[in-house]
Amino acid sequence: MQSNVLAWLNDTANTFPDKLAVYDENGSITFREFRRKSQAIARELLKMKEENGLVGRQPVAVYMEKGLEVLVSFMGTAYAGCFYSPIDVEMPEARVNKILEILHPQIVITTAALKSSFEKFHYKGAFLIYEQINPEVEDEALIARVEKTIIDTDLLYVLFTSGSTGVPKGVSISHRSVMDYIDWVTDTFSITAEDTFGNQAPFYFDNSILDIFTCIKTGATLYIIPKKLFFQPVPLLEYIKEHEINTIFWVPSALIVVSKLKAFRNVDLKDTLKQVLFCGEVMPNKQLNIWRKYLPDVVYANLYGPTEITDACTYYIVDREFGDEEPLPIGIPMENTEILVLNDQEELVRGDEIGELCVRGTSLAMGYYNNPEKTRAAFVQNPLNRAVPEMIYRTGDLVKYNEYGELIYLSRKDFQIKHLGHRIELGEIETAVSSLEEVTLCCCLYDEKRQKIVLFIDADLNRESIKERLEQLVPDYMIPGKVIYLSHMPINGNGKIDRVKLKEYL
Ligand code: AMP
Repeated sequence: MQSNVLAWLNDTANTFPDKLAVYDENGSITFREFRRKSQAIARELLKMKEENGLVGRQPVAVYMEKGLEVLVSFMGTAYAGCFYSPIDVEMPEARVNKILEILHPQIVITTAALKSSFEKFHYKGAFLIYEQINPEVEDEALIARVEKTIIDTDLLYVLFTSGSTGVPKGVSISHRSVMDYIDWVTDTFSITAEDTFGNQAPFYFDNSILDIFTCIKTGATLYIIPKKLFFQPVPLLEYIKEHEINTIFWVPSALIVVSKLKAFRNVDLKDTLKQVLFCGEVMPNKQLNIWRKYLPDVVYANLYGPTEITDACTYYIVDREFGDEEPLPIGIPMENTEILVLNDQEELVRGDEIGELCVRGTSLAMGYYNNPEKTRAAFVQNPLNRAVPEMIYRTGDLVKYNEYGELIYLSRKDFQIKHLGHRIELGEIETAVSSLEEVTLCCCLYDEKRQKIVLFIDADLNRESIKERLEQLVPDYMIPGKVIYLSHMPINGNGKIDRVKLKEYL
């Protein structure tokens, strides 16, 4: 019986020791090296735990530029019986500090070059410097002993997402949830060692879980596509062709960059790409139809789901024609997952009634790390089962069924948005703006049509100054693209900022 994801790397390294596991801009590793280096990291982590008097499953923060070393550090953390949490090197200091306060790691894996940047943060723990680890010193017996103690409900990772009150939420996922998800992925899309993946998702974003663990489980090769190529569609497609990448799992925003510029006219991928999967935001059929026109034989699949249920919980394999204006279904539940669409009375919807998509099953996160309040609000007792404790996750997404019994995504219940593939709580931006001394009232809305975050503000602050100061507080992708100054913010009957009125200014 498999009780953790390490068995996958062990088996794959035994079956395909010399096969290319991961390739990035700076180098590559085989599966044998992947396992050896991960285990060397684990050995160091175990030593550090002992030296620092740390017991039990510890959070390990991974602070590195995107590359294969990050994946080795993730697996090393898992071999040590700990759980990883990636911290984006581009994240502003204030936000990293908030994450550190929640996660409270005592060990950080980083590089010699990045260590001094990390020392700026509120962190007093130990550092493991990646380059200083000697992969030749092995202690297989120790690693095997620790591995045996890891059970499937132990945490594998914590990924931080935007929080509406300005405090990021650490979604905590167990080995079991990842095994459940990846087994479904590899069966449904028949992934084998013959396949080659082209990764787009940053490793702090849940879509990367599919890329990383599908490849580790099956022996497929993972190409980490350089980020800059996602702004240059023709070189991007050339990269796919050159490396014979046959499977991609990207956010729709990344696919749209390619279809908008019709880069397929310059590079023919007919004999290269086999499966195009996407997840994370709405995929407009107008753009998908361009992909389908140029690459008609590819299998396209729309996956849907939030980080809280291990990346995805429903899917739709595109099997019929759609008009440009029609919505693409998010489909049906994945195996071993039940979707409950609940109306305001907490009953299952009937016919095409609109309701909130809720999820039941092994995919559910254990909760938000060190945040019982937010956990209680989102992970709740199944209202259809009062007999025994059973959690469902309330996604906040409004959906309905179409005539084929497929789910259709409609909108959000709250102020969470997706902007260029990033999940953002508008409240997090508002909290950051409100912290500026000159500001009394502010509000953020999302202009879907122009794909812009719009900030309404009552202070006399120029755009550049807002941008400069926000850069210290929130990631770049949260900086409003437009600022509208109002001397009087409209207020509704409840005394709150009148968002409906503000929409008229968009
Ligand atoms: P994240 O946790 O970053 O994966 O974001 C999850 C949210 O993204 C979901 O709750 C949805 O609002 C949205 N989302 C994810 N996948 C899709 C999809 N295929 N279609 C529409 N919205 C999606």
